Amino acid sequence: MPLLAQRLARVQPSPTIAVTQKAAELKAAGRDVIGLGAGEPDFDTPDHVKDAAKAAMDAGQTRYTAADGTPALKKAIQAKFRRENGLEYEPPQIIVSCGGKHVIYNAMMATVQAGDEVIIPAPYWVSYPDMVNLAEGAPVIVPCPPEKDFRLQPDALARAITPKTKWLILNGPGNPTGAAYARDDLRALADVLLKHPHVHVLSDDIYEHLLYDGGAFHTLAEVEPKLYPRTLTMNGASKAYAMTGWRIGYAGGPKEIVRAMAAIQSHSTTNPCSISQAAAIAALDGPQDFLKDWVKSFQERRDFVVEKLNACAGLSCRTPRGAFYVYPSCEGCIGKTTPDGRKIADDTAFVEYLLEAEGVAVVQGAAFGLSPYFRVSYATSMTALEEACARIARACAALA
Ligand code: GLU
Repeated sequence: MPLLAQRLARVQPSPTIAVTQKAAELKAAGRDVIGLGAGEPDFDTPDHVKDAAKAAMDAGQTRYTAADGTPALKKAIQAKFRRENGLEYEPPQIIVSCGGKHVIYNAMMATVQAGDEVIIPAPYWVSYPDMVNLAEGAPVIVPCPPEKDFRLQPDALARAITPKTKWLILNGPGNPTGAAYARDDLRALADVLLKHPHVHVLSDDIYEHLLYDGGAFHTLAEVEPKLYPRTLTMNGASKAYAMTGWRIGYAGGPKEIVRAMAAIQSHSTTNPCSISQAAAIAALDGPQDFLKDWVKSFQERRDFVVEKLNACAGLSCRTPRGAFYVYPSCEGCIGKTTPDGRKIADDTAFVEYLLEAEGVAVVQGAAFGLSPYFRVSYATSMTALEEACARIARACAALA
């Protein structure tokens, strides 16, 4: 009898986490590595959030909480959805989990079974297809054209829907391309969805606050209220408040789904960390003005990185409107040879070369479902980005 369950054959360890860990290991071993793999803000968690965590510990908030989140945090989330998204969710429609990833995992486990299809626009965040696979569903990958800034097109969505479609997962601003959906884009997708009442929508809004060039954020349930009863609107503290390690994600949606997700969670993590939940209240209820400065700084970094990458031999990079990633094509490097005589066969070989030759860690496009590309996270200091771009330029110039 094999030791491992058959479901393991359908998943691979997260490539984004793998690159992040590899960069950390190389650094620990003394190598000069610049990590542009991890999608996490380099800013520190704001002080008022940390203070709330310390106060919670001192007040003895160190025990189990309700499995689906404390009433106080649910209240803050309810207010956030109302204030920022114009959405009304009652506490029984809200769940708090250990990060946005955990919210999506619970949702897939609670609803997807063998034969169910989940539409995932590509390039996609690495974990979506594998979570669907773990739940024994079938990911249906829908390519999004680069010339449309990698946004899901309504006709492509319409073609992908079948009687077996359970979910559409929509992520905007998106990982890994930074694709952002304007109100009109969402309107057009909503028109397709209205014709297919059996399709649910998981709106992954984790990059909500990271929009550039004056872009405004919209989410599907707000743009088309008729979709509200079948939309799970997901968000979290990680990206907006630089709280990746605290692991707080949340969602508002249909009671039946949320209750099922909470049941699963009660058997896995019990609850999200009590102290992190107290901190998340401070993040959501507290001042939001620092976000303006963060967004300005991300936009400057984006502009710098796009310009520098476009100047590299063999690379071409679009200017994304949101998140903190760029997704350059490395097509012009494929088929070339490294100074030590190895062929760059694909984007995986290209990112390996960048790491080995120049100590720059990025993630291959193959992991996100579109090659030959790679993802650069620019959520790091300008100094590191300057050095990284210089190294990438040198590596590209050295290919023959
Ligand atoms: N969402 C981030 C990324 O894509 C965090 C790592 C992960 O969970 O994949 O880098």
